[in-house]
Amino acid sequence: MPNRADPMSARAVMHEAMVQSALLSAARAEEMGLGADKIIISGKVSAVQDLIAVYRILAKRSRYALHLGLTEAGMGSKGIVASSAAIGILLQQGIGDTIRFSLTPEPGGDRSNEVRAAQELLQSMGLRSFVPIVAACPGCGRTTSTVFQELARDIQDMIRDRMPEWKTRYPGVEALNFAVMGCIVNGPGESKHADVGISLPGTGESPAAPVFIDGKKAMTLRGPNIAADFKALVENYIEKRFGG
Ligand code: SF4
Repeated sequence: MPNRADPMSARAVMHEAMVQSALLSAARAEEMGLGADKIIISGKVSAVQDLIAVYRILAKRSRYALHLGLTEAGMGSKGIVASSAAIGILLQQGIGDTIRFSLTPEPGGDRSNEVRAAQELLQSMGLRSFVPIVAACPGCGRTTSTVFQELARDIQDMIRDRMPEWKTRYPGVEALNFAVMGCIVNGPGESKHADVGISLPGTGESPAAPVFIDGKKAMTLRGPNIAADFKALVENYIEKRFGG
């Protein structure tokens, strides 16, 4: 066979080989009687750019459903970031029907973290909703305490704990947005965009936490029980909006 005038790179050859292998296997399965709608192609690789390239070719040349996943993505934030980058780009281009984050758990860690990470990617892209989102500011020189970080974590934990019951009692609750902000200078702006938002007092600010509900200032929480009061308020809001 003559050499190509424009030889493919080794990487492009690898992509092409993967695609051809997947499509040949799928065609063979169809020949043996499997319906095309029962076939899902998975062309997983462990490098982000390779994954994107392979699935772009597969999407162009195939009519089968595609399962996306960066294999051997790694541990912790490395695995989550790499998986999100690769899968997010493909989903944004309309490529992919199912996804998986292949994360290595910490020793003794929880395998459900990879499910949660995949759900959070879909939810943050606005493709699906699974649990209410808690937006929290990063904190800056305006706040020296960790109160708002603790409240953001408490609300997140509360949502996780309560979600099994909320899901059955309050259909639609998963699309809610909460905001926990670190100061009352810039916090209220973000709080207004949430269904329920709170701005905790920053450094030097008076010890009062304005709460916004459905974009309007509803009350100001004060005293040592702000966190408990806010959690009760969230429960009440959900019951009022979705109950009965
Ligand atoms: S909301 Fe306030 S504390 Fe939080 S990052 Fe913005 S300015 Fe800083």
